[in-house]
Amino acid sequence: MITGASSGIGAAAARWFTAEGAAVVLMARRKDKLDEIAAEIRAAGGRVEVAAGDVIDTDAVEQAVATAVNTFGGLNGAFNNAGWGTIGTLVHETDDADFEKTMDVNVRGTWNCLKHQLPVMLESGGSVVNTSSTAGTFATGAGAAYVAAKHAVLGLTRAAAAEYGPYGVRVNALIVGTTRTELMENAIRAFPPLEEGAVARQIQKRMADPIEVARTAAWLLSDHASFITGGAIPVDGG
Ligand code: NDP
Repeated sequence: MITGASSGIGAAAARWFTAEGAAVVLMARRKDKLDEIAAEIRAAGGRVEVAAGDVIDTDAVEQAVATAVNTFGGLNGAFNNAGWGTIGTLVHETDDADFEKTMDVNVRGTWNCLKHQLPVMLESGGSVVNTSSTAGTFATGAGAAYVAAKHAVLGLTRAAAAEYGPYGVRVNALIVGTTRTELMENAIRAFPPLEEGAVARQIQKRMADPIEVARTAAWLLSDHASFITGGAIPVDGG
């Protein structure tokens, strides 16, 4: 199950995971985009189902998990990647509505997913990867709501890893650095210094391509990463 699969990192993951042989349920709000990606994957011989919906909506998340179980016979991997945030405003300049939306999509959304995915994985074992951010480990000077939300994603990850590790379920987070996606383009439009600043602080001096994050997620979900749990794995160009 991949959330945030209609664009950016999640769409790259949909293409990569299915190319690697996984059967995948795609979730995001824009059904038209998910249908397009699913058609492309099916044309390439991949197995995919669409379960469009909002990660804030518990019924929609439950439905996506049920789609995996009913169509593919279970759920043993989840990439909880849907996210949203604004940066570039100081605390007192940030709308309360933006704060609430940021916490809702990133924190409540990840919570909803874990709550419905983990009981299925208790039966079969499994692996979860949640998308946090470099903003989940440090703050760069503007964007406190997003920083708080991505720190919370890391907290949820570590707590769930500790709770479910004894039952054969691994839970990790990706610490994603600046990646060329819709979210990043919107952030740069709102706060132009971000582009140069983010690249300057990285060793590799460039943004990631979404596929670079997707490949790391695939590895972390797979048995190749069987002794890694509760981890915060950087994909940030150094
Ligand atoms: P995109 O904007 O390209 O993708 C975000 C995805 O999340 C879209 O598929 C969007 O789909 C989905 N989404 C947003 N809100 C909801 C919601 N309420 N319910 C369901 N799906 C939702 O950005 P990215 O690919 O960059 O973002 C993916 C993740 O990576 C996010 O968690 C983001 O915070 C994180 N990240 C990104 C970085 C970057 O530099 N790009 C850096 C660090 C972390 P739809 O609109 O159709 O619902």
